[in-house]
Amino acid sequence: MSTDLARPDLAGAQADYDALVAQGMKLDLTRGKPSAAQLDLSSAILGLPGERYKADDGTDTRNYQGLQGLKELREIFAPSLQVPVDQLIAFGNSSLELMHDTLVHALLSPLPGAERRWVDEERVVFLAPTPGYDRHFAVCDRLGIELLAVPMTPDGPDMDVVERLVAEDPSIKGIWCVPKYANPDGVVYSDETTRRLAAMPTAAPDFRIMWDNAYAVHHLTEDAIEVADVLALADAAGNADRPFVFGSTSKITLAGAGVAFLGASPANVKWWLALTGKRTIGPDKVNHLRHALFFGDAAGVAAHMARHRELIAPKFAVLEKILTENFADTPGVSWSSPKGGYFVTLTVPEGTATEIVRLAREAGIALTPAGATHPGGEDPQDAIIRLAPTFPPLEEVEKAMTGVAVCVKLALAQQA
Ligand code: PMP
Repeated sequence: MSTDLARPDLAGAQADYDALVAQGMKLDLTRGKPSAAQLDLSSAILGLPGERYKADDGTDTRNYQGLQGLKELREIFAPSLQVPVDQLIAFGNSSLELMHDTLVHALLSPLPGAERRWVDEERVVFLAPTPGYDRHFAVCDRLGIELLAVPMTPDGPDMDVVERLVAEDPSIKGIWCVPKYANPDGVVYSDETTRRLAAMPTAAPDFRIMWDNAYAVHHLTEDAIEVADVLALADAAGNADRPFVFGSTSKITLAGAGVAFLGASPANVKWWLALTGKRTIGPDKVNHLRHALFFGDAAGVAAHMARHRELIAPKFAVLEKILTENFADTPGVSWSSPKGGYFVTLTVPEGTATEIVRLAREAGIALTPAGATHPGGEDPQDAIIRLAPTFPPLEEVEKAMTGVAVCVKLALAQQA
C-alpha cells in the first residue's frame, strides 16, 4: 500500500483502498474512552477504602447525608478545577449528569438572578462553540434548548461574535465551554477569552457559562498548561453567579465509577444543593473516600496523570506521524496537534468528511460520524472529522490511522 504520495491518482487510490478493505479490519477510533491499560492504573481503587469508612472529620461514609460530598476529596480537586473548596461539590460518577441536571433545575426553578424559570421563557438559546462536544449538544436537544453555533478560534470561541450576540438577545442564556484541551480540537482558551467571557455584558440577567473543564489535568506534554480562573474573574467583574464549573475523574480513575464535580458561586451552590436534595439524600461518599485515599493529595493526581501520559502520548504521536507523512503538503487537509485531552480534529476539503467516514466504515474502521461535532449533527462544510486514539492498543491506532489516510486519499482523488 502506498502511503507516501501526497495525492495519488484515482486508480492508485482505489487499489490501495481495495487492499485495505481486503484486510477485513475491525477497528474503532470513535469515542474518547480510556484503554484497559489506563484503567489498570487505578486498580488499587477497587480494594479501597478497605476496613476504613470514617472520613477525616469523623463522617461515617457508609451512611446518608453529606450532600456536598467528602471534604478531603474536594480539597484534592479544588486547585486543579480552580474552585474554592467550600464552593465545590463532589457528587456521582458523571459530570455530564451534573450538567444535565443543572439545566433541568434552571428550567424548573429560577436561577439566582433570574426573573423567571427557563420553561416560562419563550425561547432558551445556548451558544455552541463549534466544533464542539456532541453530548453537550444532545443535552440541549433533549431539553428543548436551541443551539446557536459560534466559530472557534485558536484562543477559544470567537469573542467578537459571542459578545455581540449575548449583548443583544436576552433569550441567549448560556454558552458551552471546554476551556482546556477542548473536545474535539484541543484548543486552550486564552486568558483574554476567559476574561471577556466573565466580564461581557449580557442581555439575559441569568446568563450562565457551562465551564466543562473535563481535561483540567490531562496533559500530553510536560507543559502543564493552566487556564485563567473563570470564577475569580467573573466575581471580579460583578458576575459571580455566571460560571458553573464541571469536572470529573472519568479519565483519571475509572470512567464508569469515578467522581464528578461542580463548582460555582455560593448562591449557585446553595441553589443547586437545595434542588438536588429533593432528588437524593446524598452521593456515594464511600467512592469519595476511596478516591481521596488513592490520591492522597493534588500532587498524587499529577503523578497519576503522568502515568496516563506515558500510555497515551505515543498514540497521539503516531497519529501526528501518519498525518504528517501523508498530508503535510496536501491543500485542504490539516489537523490539530493537541497538548492534552483526548481528541484530534482532522480537517479535510469541503464536502469530503462524510465520504471519508463512509469509506472507513466499509473498510472496518469506525470513525465518529461526520457532523457530530456540530449542533444538529450538521457540518455545513462537511469538513471536520474527530479522531479519538486513546482506547485501542498502539498497534491498532497505527493500523486504523494508516487506513484512514488511504480513505482520505481516495475521497480526495474522487473529488479531484
Ligand atoms: N465533557 C467533555 C468535554 C468530555 O469530552 C466528556 C467525555 N467524553 C465528558 C464531559 C463526560 O464526562 P463524564 O464522564 O464526567 O460524564
